[in-house]
Amino acid sequence: VKRRTHRQKKFFAVLLLVAFFCLPLGLDTTSAVGAEPAFASKVPVLCYHHLVDDVGHRWEHNNSVVTIAEFATQMAYLEREGYYPLTIDEFSGFLGGKKKLPAKSVLITFDDGYASNYWYAYPILARHKMKAVIFVLGSRIRPDAAPVVASLATEQDANGSAATEAQVALVDETATLEPDFSGPFAGLLPPPGYDNLVLDFMTWGQLDELAKSGLITLADHTWAAHSQRDGYLSAYEKMSKAGIVADRQLLRDEFQRRHIPLANAFAYPHGYHAKAARESVAASGVRLAFTLKRACAAPGTDPLRVPRLVVSPGLNEESFAQLLQGF
Ligand SMILES: [Zn+2]
Repeated sequence: VKRRTHRQKKFFAVLLLVAFFCLPLGLDTTSAVGAEPAFASKVPVLCYHHLVDDVGHRWEHNNSVVTIAEFATQMAYLEREGYYPLTIDEFSGFLGGKKKLPAKSVLITFDDGYASNYWYAYPILARHKMKAVIFVLGSRIRPDAAPVVASLATEQDANGSAATEAQVALVDETATLEPDFSGPFAGLLPPPGYDNLVLDFMTWGQLDELAKSGLITLADHTWAAHSQRDGYLSAYEKMSKAGIVADRQLLRDEFQRRHIPLANAFAYPHGYHAKAARESVAASGVRLAFTLKRACAAPGTDPLRVPRLVVSPGLNEESFAQLLQGF
């Protein structure tokens, strides 16, 4: 009897020891037993490009063009699941180990700066209280277009039909069309003359508006070093350090000249980031640069090689949820 008691004591002592070592570990990462972690250990960085309003479009076999409906569904999912949309500063702090983030955090990014981002992504992001970073191709940014009224009037004249009073009223209204964040389809109406089957880029005025919205941060996707021509794969990577530094500076100067804020963050063209290119980008003062390596980012991730998850078309809810885990 005495021996058994001794064994029981020993058993409880071991149990206490195990509890002593395990509980603090558990409490460190969970808010309560069985609950989800309180803080993020890794963060998905989503990468979108152009959005189209229909299936069967000419980018059907492009792995990075998703439909507006898919994008809207994904943003609704993020909101419903309680995802916290990061700013680039919060994300940067997290990578450096200086900032704790909610367990479900996400950084949403777009590459190239397509007009579809303004007409479709922006109102959808706003509706679901999401934020995004848009990496723009500086040299492709369009000058502010002539007033829509003028172009429509010309078109009507060309068709030989005089604009009725009602048409004029409609045109006047669309001339000042801004994304409307109320109603089920609001903000999803393309402006007159805009065709998302034509790959169009945003104007300086649209970028200015996005930057002022508080939802969108603009960042660097090169001024004029994105082209795939001439066996592009190596074109950017073979650019001289001086060339890369000058290209960064040109983009910054153009934004500064227009008083449009530009974040000190860079997305490598097509994700290519050979060592020399990384060093040149760093030499130009960039402290945060994004690749297309498929993984989540975590504290300690090289800030000049931040992985991103390209959102490809045709994801169902389950596969989108997996993508958010880095798969
Ligand atoms: Zn690009």
